[in-house]
Amino acid sequence: MLTTPAYAAQSPDTPLANFSIERREPGAKDVLIEILYCGVCHSDIHQARNEWGGSIFPMVPGHEIVGKISAIGSDVKKWQVGDTVGIGCFVDSCCKCEACNAGEENYCEEGMTGTYNGRERKSGEPTYGGYSTQITVDENYVLRIPQSIPLDAAAPLLCAGITTYSPLKHFGVKPGDKVGVVGLGGLGHMGVKLAAAMGAEVTVISQSPGKSADAQRLGAKDFIATKEPGTFEANANRFDFILNTISAPHDYNAYLNMLRRDGTMVLVGLPDPLPLSAFALVPKRRRLAGSMIGGISETQEMLDFCAAHNIASDIEIIQIHQINEAYERMLKGDVRYRFVIDIASLKVAG
Ligand code: NAP
Ligand code: ZN
Ligand code: ZN
Repeated sequence: MLTTPAYAAQSPDTPLANFSIERREPGAKDVLIEILYCGVCHSDIHQARNEWGGSIFPMVPGHEIVGKISAIGSDVKKWQVGDTVGIGCFVDSCCKCEACNAGEENYCEEGMTGTYNGRERKSGEPTYGGYSTQITVDENYVLRIPQSIPLDAAAPLLCAGITTYSPLKHFGVKPGDKVGVVGLGGLGHMGVKLAAAMGAEVTVISQSPGKSADAQRLGAKDFIATKEPGTFEANANRFDFILNTISAPHDYNAYLNMLRRDGTMVLVGLPDPLPLSAFALVPKRRRLAGSMIGGISETQEMLDFCAAHNIASDIEIIQIHQINEAYERMLKGDVRYRFVIDIASLKVAG
């Protein structure tokens, strides 16, 4: 086993702190990755605080991982030592169900194996994420990071990037479509960049009026400040497509009413459930849908799309000991627009 410095939550209500984990020695089809950067996703907070139930502790979060391959197994075909690679939200799947056969391992019928807060399919041991210095992964769950994307700003693409790219593609957003992006955080800011690159006319819908200038810089044409009185009425029936990234409980119906006839709102944010009114959907044949990350081949497609369009994440680099403070800032909507941990700081701390 490979003893590995990490940062972990020991329970839902203790701050993250130094911890040591054991990684498996690379098997024939595995690669060992030296982790250089790891993005901080709001799902890390939900899970570290057991907000979805069933969390496994101790927990080492982190599923926006980039680094360099430091060793490969004897049967590895796709990778070489020294390759710059990424790992996203899952590290295994059944490889035989309809979803896996369709290349949508994220929807595996047996359940994808989460990069953390999951259990390895063979051993049943807990999986540990990217707030650590190295990780052993099956070569088929590894992504190639295009050279032109700075490595630290590439990390958030592995979750925030694919989670917003996939529904924009799947629901056929096209040039000229009026797209609203709700919530300008990690996912939201990637949604703005990607939808704009696809030719959509993007509007940011935000509770933080101070983010208006950033929204324009990121590629939005317009900005709706939801805390202003009368905003929802003034923008009724406006959008073809709304990407809803809000992480906290909120009124879905208010946002659905901003969709035009036949419009679609896709939820990617995962707060506690709230009541849904039939009247927000039925009279305008609106659709409410959900979407969860993306498969391995689509994630590679997204990375290549980002390279082709000069897209990366807007990041604030933090040291590992700042992680608890970063969580608090994210809960206040105070992130511009993704925290990324410099894992070198963990090597020092560990
Ligand atoms: P984040 O960086 O914290 O951004 C969330 C944004 O939501 C905030 O910046 C804020 O934007 C807005 N917001 C927060 N509280 C709000 C409230 N009470 N009312 C209205 N707006 C509020 O989070 P993230 O990492 O982007 O993740 C967003 C959500 O997506 C989380 O629930 C996460 O678990 C989920 N997620 C889902 C998937 C998937 O596959 N579906 C993948 C990754 C993450 P403004 O300041 O602009 O209002
Ligand atoms: Zn995530
Ligand atoms: Zn499967």
